[in-house]
Amino acid sequence: MSRREGALAAELKRRLQILGAQTFIDGAAIKTGSDTGNLIARLEGSREVPPLLVNAHMDTVQPGEGVSVLFKDGVFTSDGRTILGADDKSAIAVILEALSVLRENQIQHGPIEIVLTTCEEAGLKGAKNLDFNLLTAPYGYALDGSDTEGIIVQAPSANRFEIRLIGKDAHAGAHPEQGINAIHLAAKAMAGLTIGRIDIETTCNIGWIEGGVATNVVPPLVTLRGEARSHDEAKLQGVTAGIIEAFEEVVKEHRRRTGLDGLPQMETHVERSYGRTRISEGHPLVLLAKQAAASLGRSLRTKISGGGSDANVFFEKGIPLGILGTGMREVHTTRESVRLDDMIRATELLVAIIRQHSKA
Ligand SMILES: [Zn+2]
Repeated sequence: MSRREGALAAELKRRLQILGAQTFIDGAAIKTGSDTGNLIARLEGSREVPPLLVNAHMDTVQPGEGVSVLFKDGVFTSDGRTILGADDKSAIAVILEALSVLRENQIQHGPIEIVLTTCEEAGLKGAKNLDFNLLTAPYGYALDGSDTEGIIVQAPSANRFEIRLIGKDAHAGAHPEQGINAIHLAAKAMAGLTIGRIDIETTCNIGWIEGGVATNVVPPLVTLRGEARSHDEAKLQGVTAGIIEAFEEVVKEHRRRTGLDGLPQMETHVERSYGRTRISEGHPLVLLAKQAAASLGRSLRTKISGGGSDANVFFEKGIPLGILGTGMREVHTTRESVRLDDMIRATELLVAIIRQHSKA
C-alpha cells in the first residue's frame, strides 16, 4: 500500500543489483511519509545513446495486503478478499523479466534508467517529490496501463476542490427560523449543476459530502469534496470555477433575503492534482514503440486516457512518458486480474523497445 513500500523497495533493490544495475533511493520519504524513497536503478549500456526511462509504481490501493494469488487458465486473480495488485506489480514483474532477458541473451542495449515510485495511488506523491536530478533520460515509458496493443499519449489535467458551507444551528422544532440549513443550501447549489461528463474531454464529480449534527438540529455546516478533469486547460478552470460560483450564488441569494449575522458563509479550497500530458504522434518515443511493435509483427495504436498517473508529473518535468499496458484488468477492485500471456506480450514489447532504442 502507499507509504509502506519499504520492504518491496529493499527486495527490488537487491534483485536489480543482481541484474547489474546501480541503485539509489532518493529523499522523497520525508515529504511523502513513506517508509522509503523512490527507487532508481541505472543499467549501463554498451551503446552510446541517451538513456531510456522505464517507470512503474510500487504501491497499490486497498485492500491490498495479505493477497492470496490464484492462477487458473492462464489468469492471475486474488481470492476475492483483496485486490490483486497487478496495478502496478505486473509492471514491476515485466521490467524485471525484460532485464533478465537482456542479460541472459547478452542483448546489446543503451543505458536504462528505471524509476519505481512510491505513493502513486496517494496523489502521485512519490513522483511529485522525486529527485529529478538523478535522471538524465529525455523520455521513456510508464508501464501502468491495461491495453498491451496501445500506448497512451494524452491524459487530462485535474483539480481537486473542497467547499465548506457555513450555516447556523438552531433547535429544529422550537426556533428553526433562527437557523440556516447548510445541507439545504448545498442541495440547492448542487441541483443546478451539470455533473459527470461535461463534454468529450471534460468531466467533473462531487464525490464526498458530510454535514449535519442530529435530526432535531438545523445543520450549521456541510463539507463537499470533488474534482474536475479536462484535456483542455481553459475548460478545466472554467468547470472548476463554475461549480464554486453555483455555491457562491446560493450563499449570496440567501444572505440577501435574511442577512443573519453575515451568514451563510462559504470557504473553498482548490488544489491542482496534476497537469495534462500531450505527446505528439511524431514524438521519438511514439515512433520507437511503434517500430518495436512492428519488429514483433504487431501494431500499437496511440490512445487517450481519462486518468492521471506518474506520467503526468514526468511530463511537467520535461520527461514525456508513453504509458504501456501490462494486461491488468478491473484495477482497484477485488475482481482485478491479469493474463500471463499479456504480461509476456508486454515484456516482449519492452525488450523490443530497448533493442530498437540501442540502434538509434
Ligand atoms: Zn497504476
